[in-house]
Amino acid sequence: MKRTGARESGAARRCAVGKLAIFGVGLIGGSFALALKKRNAVARVVGVGRSRANLAAARRLGIIDEIAADPALAVKNADLVLLAVPLGQTAAVLAQIAPYLAPHTVVTDAGSTKRDVIAGARRYLGAAFARFVPAHPIAGIEKSGAQAALADLYRGRSLIVTPEPETDPRAVRRVTAAWKLAGMRVITMRAADHDRVFALVSHLPHLLSFALVDNIAGYGDAAALFKHTGGGFRDLSRIAGSSPEMWRDICLANRDAILAALDGYLGALKLLRGMVEASDGQGLEARFAAARAAHAKWLVKKTGWRTGD
Ligand code: NAD
Repeated sequence: MKRTGARESGAARRCAVGKLAIFGVGLIGGSFALALKKRNAVARVVGVGRSRANLAAARRLGIIDEIAADPALAVKNADLVLLAVPLGQTAAVLAQIAPYLAPHTVVTDAGSTKRDVIAGARRYLGAAFARFVPAHPIAGIEKSGAQAALADLYRGRSLIVTPEPETDPRAVRRVTAAWKLAGMRVITMRAADHDRVFALVSHLPHLLSFALVDNIAGYGDAAALFKHTGGGFRDLSRIAGSSPEMWRDICLANRDAILAALDGYLGALKLLRGMVEASDGQGLEARFAAARAAHAKWLVKKTGWRTGD
């Protein structure tokens, strides 16, 4: 894993994007446009979408300068094309735009999984695959659409890039320069490592959150149960407010890594269940203490906080 610091210095002009075409002007695509606009680092943003109302909102909010109904016209002479659509749409968009990419156009994506996106790009982009930079910004909130976009969403966060052997290093530099202007630091990983890591630390927690809420909603007295929820439920359920379409596609795209993560977690739950059933207080306390120690260590690394501060 290679890491380079976010470079705030250097005139935005040096790394500026002329024409940026964004497919999927939602939280992620819209926030990228806003971040670059805030730094005067992009000349013109063209948006392509599925929902007319969302594109109109993006135009009204100044996220995009132009709505393009035709994907071919959207990418014409673009310097950078960002795909920020749900993962299930990525291959179709790549197939649509492939014939119209100029030799200087660099294409990148923001998908939460990488192996499937790379397979689609390899299949549809032909020679332009060398100018495709697979990327995943590790930033987000549980809201969707252009209205949720934030200029500062990426500030201080990480961008994972997973270039393939064929990827042109100049294309990687152009894409990472743009994300650095949006405030991100860049980490390079192999796509398979990325998909395993994020199955464990991101995809699994989302499944747990959806399952937790869905389980309670299934009880006959769900309304009363929800009325009694407190901080614990609020903490664990926040991300159940995320987009069902997006998470469906992530589960389908990262099937094997998510199954492995689920199996590990089900094993941990089964262990706790056995201890509860056997009234094994010592065993339970030992597992909880181990988890608490690991959590405290994580917290210090992540934020510099110590529990009790
Ligand atoms: P979003 O729902 O806010 O935005 C997606 C947009 O894509 C919507 O406006 C939708 O209308 C549009 N769209 C759908 N199909 C399309 C198509 N065929 N052509 C053009 N536009 C289309 O979702 P988001 O949170 O911005 O996520 C976008 C991508 O970013 C996903 O691939 C997701 O995996 C990834 N991602 C999301 C987060 C997060 O926390 N939300 C974080 C990192 C990466």
